[in-house]
Amino acid sequence: MDFRLTDEQRLIRKAARDFAAKELMPNVREWEETATFSRRTFSKMGELDFTGLYVPEEFGGTGVGRLTAALIFEELAKGCFATAVYVTVHNMVTNLIYQYGNDGQRKKWVEPLARGEKLGAYSLTEAEAGSDAAALTTSAAKTDGGYVINGTKLYVTSGEVADIYAVMVRTDDSQKQKGISAVVVEKGTPGFSFGPHEPKMGLNSSPTTELHFNDCFIPSENLIGEEGRGLNIALTALNGGRISIGACATGLALQALDYALGYAQKRQLFGKAIITFQGLQFLVADLASEIEASRLMIYRAAWLMDQGEPCVMEAAMGKRLATDTAMRVTTEAVQILGGYGYMKSYPVEMYMRFAKIAQIFEGTNQIQRVVIARELGKYKGGKRPDTY
Ligand SMILES: Cc1cc2nc3c(=O)[nH]c(=O)nc-3n(C[C@H](O)[C@H](O)[C@H](O)COP(=O)(O)OP(=O)(O)OC[C@H]3O[C@@H](n4cnc5c(N)ncnc54)[C@H](O)[C@@H]3O)c2cc1C
Repeated sequence: MDFRLTDEQRLIRKAARDFAAKELMPNVREWEETATFSRRTFSKMGELDFTGLYVPEEFGGTGVGRLTAALIFEELAKGCFATAVYVTVHNMVTNLIYQYGNDGQRKKWVEPLARGEKLGAYSLTEAEAGSDAAALTTSAAKTDGGYVINGTKLYVTSGEVADIYAVMVRTDDSQKQKGISAVVVEKGTPGFSFGPHEPKMGLNSSPTTELHFNDCFIPSENLIGEEGRGLNIALTALNGGRISIGACATGLALQALDYALGYAQKRQLFGKAIITFQGLQFLVADLASEIEASRLMIYRAAWLMDQGEPCVMEAAMGKRLATDTAMRVTTEAVQILGGYGYMKSYPVEMYMRFAKIAQIFEGTNQIQRVVIARELGKYKGGKRPDTY
């Protein structure tokens, strides 16, 4: 078992680390306070090849794969968690169209997405269909040469600012799971509009909106994969997405711990630095160990996916652990700073607000447990094959 990164992975990780330090970290607080989405930052990530990570060069990407992508997302999240998150969603959408689309669709959508010229968004959730995604009702009725979409989608990351939307719609009322299809809707299509940017607890530099479809016609060429396969496509994409969110959460946790540790080394109380108190030493020792455990789990899930091995359970485990760890680490970081931690003049309260969403989206952590339990249940007598 070789845990060393390749020279190429180290170089790419350094590029992401430098970018986060120079472009994200100095701006994150202002972007959050003013709910500013920076398109320029997205374009710069395109120039650095962070926008087509799973797509081969032939279609505008780099195809570096999941493990290298996880390293990038981890670094970006240290600078700005919200930016890292929307780039993971963008890569997920780019890959979804690449994986299930035909060459014409790849040329039309994947290439500009992978080059960072267009931004992608993913839309599955509805008011009555979050965890129960198969309950979605936004309809796509077949008509001459295409579909007419009606309905409202909820909580779309990069809503309004994105150009290309992978949307899950109902093409068949008579079936639940198999009545769902994946389609692409481009911004500017008549009948397609956006709700206002939702005011949120955090993640404000990444807009979240509703999508409104009002007799919105799309041509048949916008169907991705076969009709009825949409839920399967959507959930397969989310499996990879969970690894990416776990990587973002790991970066956030590392950043919060580094900050709190640096603070504890400087803060003098009772005549000495507070890090000399064993109560705090044991706390940071536990936090660092928990980050290491979840980080390894994310890297392994990413590696399995790169090998083409099954990793549904590993991705769910990694997402669950890494995001719960980020929540704990960021909460404890606030505690380590004491009253200062609660103030906006220090970053840790923002980290804590960032961490909360990671336990909720791309499948809540309860749903990750449902997935893990379902996977475990596949093995009779409780005997799970040893995958190491
Ligand atoms: C900032 C933000 C960005 C988002 N971005 C996107 C996006 O880009 N695209 C997109 O499609 N969606 C997006 N979402 C939606 C997100 O994925 C959903 O909010 C999430 O899946 C949960 O769905 P829900 O909000 O409807 O909660 P519900 O499904 O109503 O869940 C409510 C509670 O019940 C629990 N629960 C549900 N089922 C079970 C069960 N079987 N066992 C135990 N507990 C259960 C849940 O864990 C949760 O605690 C985003 C959400 C937010 C807040």
